[in-house]
Amino acid sequence: MPELPEVETTRRGVDPHVVGRKIVALAVHEPRLRWRVPDSLPAEVAGQRVRQTGRRAKYLLLELESGTLLLHLGMSGSLRVLPAETPRLTHDHFDLLLDSGKTLRFNDPRRFGSLHYTTGKLDEHPLLKRLAPEPLDDQFTADYLLRITRKRKVTIKQLLMNSALVVGVGNIYASEALFRARVRPTRQARSLKRPEIVKLTRGVRAVLSMAIKVGGTTLRDYVGADGNPGYFKQKLYVYERAGKPCRVCGTPIKQMTQGQRSTYYCPSCQK
Ligand SMILES: [Zn+2]
Repeated sequence: MPELPEVETTRRGVDPHVVGRKIVALAVHEPRLRWRVPDSLPAEVAGQRVRQTGRRAKYLLLELESGTLLLHLGMSGSLRVLPAETPRLTHDHFDLLLDSGKTLRFNDPRRFGSLHYTTGKLDEHPLLKRLAPEPLDDQFTADYLLRITRKRKVTIKQLLMNSALVVGVGNIYASEALFRARVRPTRQARSLKRPEIVKLTRGVRAVLSMAIKVGGTTLRDYVGADGNPGYFKQKLYVYERAGKPCRVCGTPIKQMTQGQRSTYYCPSCQK
Protein backbone atom coordinates (compact mmCIF):
# COMPACT_ATOMS: atom_id res chain seq x y z
CA MET A 1 0.00 0.00 0.00
CA PRO A 2 1.42 3.42 -0.90
CA GLU A 3 2.50 5.27 2.20
CA LEU A 4 3.18 8.97 2.64
CA PRO A 5 6.72 8.88 1.17
CA GLU A 6 5.50 7.05 -1.94
CA VAL A 7 2.72 9.60 -2.44
CA GLU A 8 5.19 12.46 -2.02
CA THR A 9 7.58 10.74 -4.43
CA THR A 10 4.71 10.40 -6.91
CA ARG A 11 3.89 14.10 -6.51
CA ARG A 12 7.47 15.09 -7.24
CA GLY A 13 7.57 12.78 -10.24
CA VAL A 14 4.33 14.14 -11.69
CA ASP A 15 5.00 17.81 -10.94
CA PRO A 16 7.29 18.77 -13.86
CA HIS A 17 4.92 17.09 -16.35
CA VAL A 18 1.71 18.79 -15.24
CA VAL A 19 2.43 22.25 -13.82
CA GLY A 20 1.61 24.98 -16.35
CA ARG A 21 -0.12 22.47 -18.63
CA LYS A 22 -3.70 22.83 -19.80
CA ILE A 23 -6.09 19.93 -19.31
CA VAL A 24 -7.42 19.03 -22.75
CA ALA A 25 -9.81 16.43 -21.38
CA LEU A 26 -10.46 14.08 -18.51
CA ALA A 27 -11.39 10.66 -19.89
CA VAL A 28 -12.97 8.44 -17.25
CA HIS A 29 -12.98 4.80 -18.34
CA GLU A 30 -14.18 3.34 -15.04
CA PRO A 31 -15.98 5.70 -12.66
CA ARG A 32 -16.51 3.08 -9.96
CA LEU A 33 -13.53 3.82 -7.77
CA ARG A 34 -13.75 3.94 -3.98
CA TRP A 35 -16.23 6.75 -4.53
CA ARG A 36 -17.91 7.10 -7.90
CA VAL A 37 -16.28 9.76 -10.09
CA PRO A 38 -19.11 12.24 -10.81
CA ASP A 39 -20.30 12.41 -14.43
CA SER A 40 -19.96 16.19 -14.29
CA LEU A 41 -16.25 16.13 -13.47
CA PRO A 42 -14.72 16.01 -16.98
CA ALA A 43 -16.63 19.13 -18.07
CA GLU A 44 -15.61 20.98 -14.90
CA VAL A 45 -11.87 20.50 -15.33
CA ALA A 46 -11.46 20.58 -19.11
CA GLY A 47 -9.67 23.70 -20.35
CA GLN A 48 -8.16 24.55 -16.97
CA ARG A 49 -4.45 24.92 -16.39
CA VAL A 50 -2.65 23.11 -13.59
CA ARG A 51 -1.19 25.77 -11.31
CA GLN A 52 0.70 23.59 -8.88
CA THR A 53 0.81 20.21 -7.19
CA GLY A 54 0.50 19.52 -3.50
CA ARG A 55 -0.10 16.77 -0.99
CA ARG A 56 -2.17 16.43 2.17
CA ALA A 57 -1.65 13.14 3.99
CA LYS A 58 -1.96 10.58 1.21
CA TYR A 59 -4.02 12.84 -1.09
CA LEU A 60 -2.20 14.14 -4.13
CA LEU A 61 -3.53 17.60 -5.01
CA LEU A 62 -3.61 19.24 -8.43
CA GLU A 63 -4.46 22.88 -8.02
CA LEU A 64 -6.28 24.16 -11.12
CA GLU A 65 -7.36 27.69 -12.00
CA SER A 66 -10.85 27.32 -10.47
CA GLY A 67 -10.52 24.44 -8.06
CA THR A 68 -8.47 21.44 -6.94
CA LEU A 69 -8.38 17.79 -7.93
CA LEU A 70 -7.85 15.36 -5.02
CA LEU A 71 -6.42 12.02 -6.00
CA HIS A 72 -5.90 9.06 -3.68
CA LEU A 73 -3.90 6.01 -4.74
CA GLY A 74 -5.83 3.71 -2.40
CA MET A 75 -4.30 0.26 -1.86
CA SER A 76 -2.86 -0.41 -5.29
CA GLY A 77 -3.07 2.77 -7.37
CA SER A 78 -0.28 4.24 -9.48
CA LEU A 79 0.16 7.13 -11.88
CA ARG A 80 2.16 7.19 -15.07
CA VAL A 81 2.97 10.03 -17.44
CA LEU A 82 2.71 8.65 -20.97
CA PRO A 83 2.26 9.78 -24.58
CA ALA A 84 -1.51 10.15 -24.95
CA GLU A 85 -1.74 7.51 -27.68
CA THR A 86 -0.23 4.76 -25.49
CA PRO A 87 -2.66 1.81 -25.48
CA ARG A 88 -4.51 1.33 -22.23
CA LEU A 89 -3.91 -1.59 -19.88
CA THR A 90 -6.49 -3.40 -17.81
CA HIS A 91 -7.25 -1.33 -14.69
CA ASP A 92 -6.34 2.00 -16.33
CA HIS A 93 -9.32 3.94 -14.98
CA PHE A 94 -8.82 7.51 -16.13
CA ASP A 95 -6.62 9.74 -18.28
CA LEU A 96 -5.93 13.39 -17.65
CA LEU A 97 -4.96 14.49 -21.14
CA LEU A 98 -2.62 17.47 -21.28
CA ASP A 99 -1.80 19.99 -24.00
CA SER A 100 1.76 18.60 -24.09
CA GLY A 101 0.44 15.50 -25.85
CA LYS A 102 1.00 13.47 -22.69
CA THR A 103 -1.49 11.93 -20.34
CA LEU A 104 -1.48 11.38 -16.61
CA ARG A 105 -2.89 7.87 -16.43
CA PHE A 106 -4.27 6.21 -13.31
CA ASN A 107 -4.10 2.44 -12.87
CA ASP A 108 -5.64 0.71 -9.86
CA PRO A 109 -6.43 -3.04 -9.85
CA ARG A 110 -8.29 -2.93 -6.52
CA ARG A 111 -10.13 0.35 -7.16
CA PHE A 112 -9.71 1.73 -3.64
CA GLY A 113 -8.29 4.91 -5.13
CA SER A 114 -10.40 8.01 -5.67
CA LEU A 115 -10.75 11.23 -7.64
CA HIS A 116 -12.57 14.30 -6.32
CA TYR A 117 -12.79 17.92 -7.43
CA THR A 118 -13.60 20.88 -5.24
CA THR A 119 -13.92 24.60 -5.76
CA GLY A 120 -14.24 25.25 -2.03
CA LYS A 121 -11.61 25.71 0.66
CA LEU A 122 -9.34 22.68 0.80
CA ASP A 123 -9.02 22.46 4.56
CA GLU A 124 -12.81 22.38 4.81
CA HIS A 125 -13.19 19.50 2.38
CA PRO A 126 -14.86 16.50 4.10
CA LEU A 127 -11.93 14.23 3.22
CA LEU A 128 -9.30 16.62 4.54
CA LYS A 129 -10.78 18.64 7.37
CA ARG A 130 -10.33 16.08 10.13
CA LEU A 131 -6.83 14.98 9.17
CA ALA A 132 -4.17 15.03 11.87
CA PRO A 133 -0.94 17.03 11.53
CA GLU A 134 1.60 16.12 8.88
CA PRO A 135 4.79 14.67 10.35
CA LEU A 136 6.91 16.83 8.05
CA ASP A 137 5.03 20.05 8.81
CA ASP A 138 5.66 22.60 11.54
CA GLN A 139 2.67 21.50 13.65
CA PHE A 140 4.34 18.15 14.33
CA THR A 141 6.51 19.22 17.26
CA ALA A 142 7.78 17.55 20.39
CA ASP A 143 5.18 19.56 22.32
CA TYR A 144 2.40 18.16 20.16
CA LEU A 145 3.66 14.59 20.53
CA LEU A 146 4.14 15.03 24.27
CA ARG A 147 0.58 16.34 24.63
CA ILE A 148 -1.04 13.48 22.72
CA THR A 149 0.95 10.83 24.58
CA ARG A 150 0.01 11.94 28.10
CA LYS A 151 -3.58 10.81 28.35
CA ARG A 152 -3.54 7.67 26.24
CA LYS A 153 -3.28 4.10 27.41
CA VAL A 154 -1.65 2.71 24.28
CA THR A 155 1.86 1.76 23.28
CA ILE A 156 3.96 4.39 21.58
CA LYS A 157 4.08 2.42 18.33
CA GLN A 158 0.30 2.15 18.15
CA LEU A 159 0.00 5.85 18.87
CA LEU A 160 2.42 6.76 16.07
CA MET A 161 0.44 4.64 13.63
CA ASN A 162 -2.93 6.15 14.60
CA SER A 163 -3.77 8.36 11.64
CA ALA A 164 -6.23 10.37 13.75
CA LEU A 165 -3.20 11.68 15.69
CA VAL A 166 -0.41 11.80 13.08
CA VAL A 167 -0.91 11.08 9.38
CA GLY A 168 1.27 8.89 7.24
CA VAL A 169 3.44 6.99 9.72
CA GLY A 170 3.09 3.37 8.61
CA ASN A 171 4.65 0.27 10.14
CA ILE A 172 8.09 0.63 8.59
CA TYR A 173 8.44 4.27 9.56
CA ALA A 174 7.15 3.80 13.10
CA SER A 175 9.58 0.91 13.71
CA GLU A 176 12.54 2.82 12.30
CA ALA A 177 11.73 6.08 14.10
CA LEU A 178 11.50 4.22 17.42
CA PHE A 179 14.91 2.68 16.83
CA ARG A 180 16.37 6.10 16.11
CA ALA A 181 14.88 7.38 19.37
CA ARG A 182 16.16 4.24 21.20
CA VAL A 183 12.64 3.59 22.51
CA ARG A 184 11.02 0.14 22.61
CA PRO A 185 7.81 -0.12 20.58
CA THR A 186 6.01 -1.77 23.50
CA ARG A 187 6.47 1.17 25.88
CA GLN A 188 3.35 2.90 27.09
CA ALA A 189 3.14 6.19 25.21
CA ARG A 190 2.67 8.17 28.40
CA SER A 191 5.85 6.72 29.95
CA LEU A 192 8.11 8.50 27.47
CA LYS A 193 10.20 11.30 28.89
CA ARG A 194 10.53 14.60 27.10
CA PRO A 195 14.06 13.92 25.73
CA GLU A 196 12.76 10.65 24.24
CA ILE A 197 9.83 12.47 22.68
CA VAL A 198 12.20 15.04 21.17
CA LYS A 199 14.33 12.26 19.66
CA LEU A 200 11.25 10.45 18.40
CA THR A 201 9.91 13.59 16.68
CA ARG A 202 13.27 13.96 14.93
CA GLY A 203 13.34 10.23 14.13
CA VAL A 204 9.94 10.31 12.42
CA ARG A 205 10.96 13.30 10.30
CA ALA A 206 14.34 11.79 9.44
CA VAL A 207 13.04 8.43 8.33
CA LEU A 208 10.23 9.90 6.20
CA SER A 209 12.58 12.45 4.62
CA MET A 210 15.07 9.73 3.78
CA ALA A 211 12.36 7.56 2.20
CA ILE A 212 11.23 10.48 0.04
CA LYS A 213 14.79 11.29 -0.99
CA VAL A 214 15.64 7.70 -1.91
CA GLY A 215 12.32 7.22 -3.71
CA GLY A 216 12.85 10.38 -5.69
CA THR A 217 16.01 9.06 -7.29
CA THR A 218 14.29 5.97 -8.72
CA LEU A 219 11.78 7.89 -10.85
CA ARG A 220 11.62 7.65 -14.62
CA ASP A 221 8.41 8.06 -16.64
CA TYR A 222 6.79 5.56 -14.32
CA VAL A 223 5.81 7.37 -11.17
CA GLY A 224 4.17 4.45 -9.48
CA ALA A 225 3.83 3.93 -5.80
CA ASP A 226 3.43 0.26 -5.06
CA GLY A 227 4.64 0.60 -1.50
CA ASN A 228 7.59 -1.69 -2.18
CA PRO A 229 10.36 -0.51 0.10
CA GLY A 230 13.05 -2.48 -1.80
CA TYR A 231 15.14 0.55 -2.69
CA PHE A 232 14.99 1.63 0.89
CA LYS A 233 15.76 -1.66 2.59
CA GLN A 234 19.50 -1.44 2.83
CA LYS A 235 19.03 1.72 4.89
CA LEU A 236 16.75 0.14 7.49
CA TYR A 237 17.93 -0.54 11.04
CA VAL A 238 15.26 -2.94 12.31
CA TYR A 239 12.31 -3.43 9.93
CA GLU A 240 12.27 -7.01 8.53
CA ARG A 241 15.73 -7.64 10.02
CA ALA A 242 14.72 -10.27 12.64
CA GLY A 243 17.74 -12.28 13.79
CA LYS A 244 20.21 -10.06 11.96
CA PRO A 245 22.80 -8.10 13.94
CA CYS A 246 21.85 -4.58 15.04
CA ARG A 247 23.76 -2.12 12.86
CA VAL A 248 24.74 -0.19 16.00
CA CYS A 249 25.57 -2.83 18.66
CA GLY A 250 25.50 -6.24 16.93
CA THR A 251 22.71 -7.74 19.10
CA PRO A 252 20.23 -9.82 17.04
CA ILE A 253 17.10 -7.83 16.12
CA LYS A 254 13.91 -9.19 17.69
CA GLN A 255 10.52 -9.55 16.07
CA MET A 256 7.15 -9.64 17.79
CA THR A 257 3.50 -9.13 16.96
CA GLN A 258 1.90 -5.95 18.18
CA GLY A 259 -1.64 -4.96 17.27
CA GLN A 260 -1.60 -7.64 14.52
CA ARG A 261 1.45 -6.07 12.90
CA SER A 262 5.05 -7.19 13.00
CA THR A 263 7.28 -5.08 15.17
CA TYR A 264 11.08 -5.15 15.13
CA TYR A 265 13.47 -3.74 17.69
CA CYS A 266 16.96 -4.08 19.15
CA PRO A 267 16.64 -5.41 22.71
CA SER A 268 19.90 -3.77 23.63
CA CYS A 269 19.65 -0.30 22.03
CA GLN A 270 15.94 0.29 22.69
CA LYS A 271 14.80 0.79 26.27
ZN1 LIG B 1 21.42 -2.43 19.01
